[in-house]
Amino acid sequence: MTLLSVSNLSKAYDGKTAVNNVSFAFQEGKCIALIGPNGAGKTTILRTLAGLLKPSSGAVRFTGMKENEDIRKYIGYLPQYPHFYSWMTGLEFLMYSGQLAFLSKTDAKRRAEELLEKVGISEAKNKRIGTYSGGMKQRLGIAQAIIHKPKLLMLDEPVSSLDPLGRREVLILMEELKNEMTILFSTHILSDADEISDELLLLRNGEIVESGSMKELRQKYQTSMIEIEFQ
Ligand code: ATP
Repeated sequence: MTLLSVSNLSKAYDGKTAVNNVSFAFQEGKCIALIGPNGAGKTTILRTLAGLLKPSSGAVRFTGMKENEDIRKYIGYLPQYPHFYSWMTGLEFLMYSGQLAFLSKTDAKRRAEELLEKVGISEAKNKRIGTYSGGMKQRLGIAQAIIHKPKLLMLDEPVSSLDPLGRREVLILMEELKNEMTILFSTHILSDADEISDELLLLRNGEIVESGSMKELRQKYQTSMIEIEFQ
């Protein structure tokens, strides 16, 4: 089943086009990588899908969403540079986030504990976020993004700023979450996309220049994807 379809989406900032007439759709349960170099328009697309930016033109359709419903009910979004209250503990932060998502205090605590376990930081739940490693913060951010059980999880460059251990931990977590929800993530690193995505959307200068699985793209070009990506 198609979960999300985007048609002829464009976004300009002060008249300068950042995303140009982009159309794509993906199926429920897939893991999609939006890949492209810096400035290609990845963040702009994700922020627009998350309902945080208004498109200049085009439409985003989410299957099952009723008219006038807020798309944020269905989507969890972790920005490239998430904001944490470093003086809070992980548990406090997730309980606070749960209550912002309209959970009662009791339900927010239950959900927070469950998610801390799921993302593998329950042992540090009573420590201040300021003491967490980059990878732990990123996993906490993922927990926050899925606190309201969205159908689609969108992650903007989730591993780009992490050291090898943090990167591995987050990729393992994403691999686990793939079984529970649809994931759309952006990256400029081909090996990340290759490792866990089912499909790639290759973005350059605000346009999708290729899409398909890594295998399909390799067969089509019979060359290294790195050449395709940066040619
Ligand atoms: P990066 O990995 O560097 O974040 P990206 O692929 O996510 O890159 P975007 O951040 O979407 O790309 O930026 C696409 C284009 O839009 C770039 O030319 C950028 O300079 C421009 N841009 C992004 N945000 C704004 C803004 N708020 N105002 C003006 N121009 C912007």
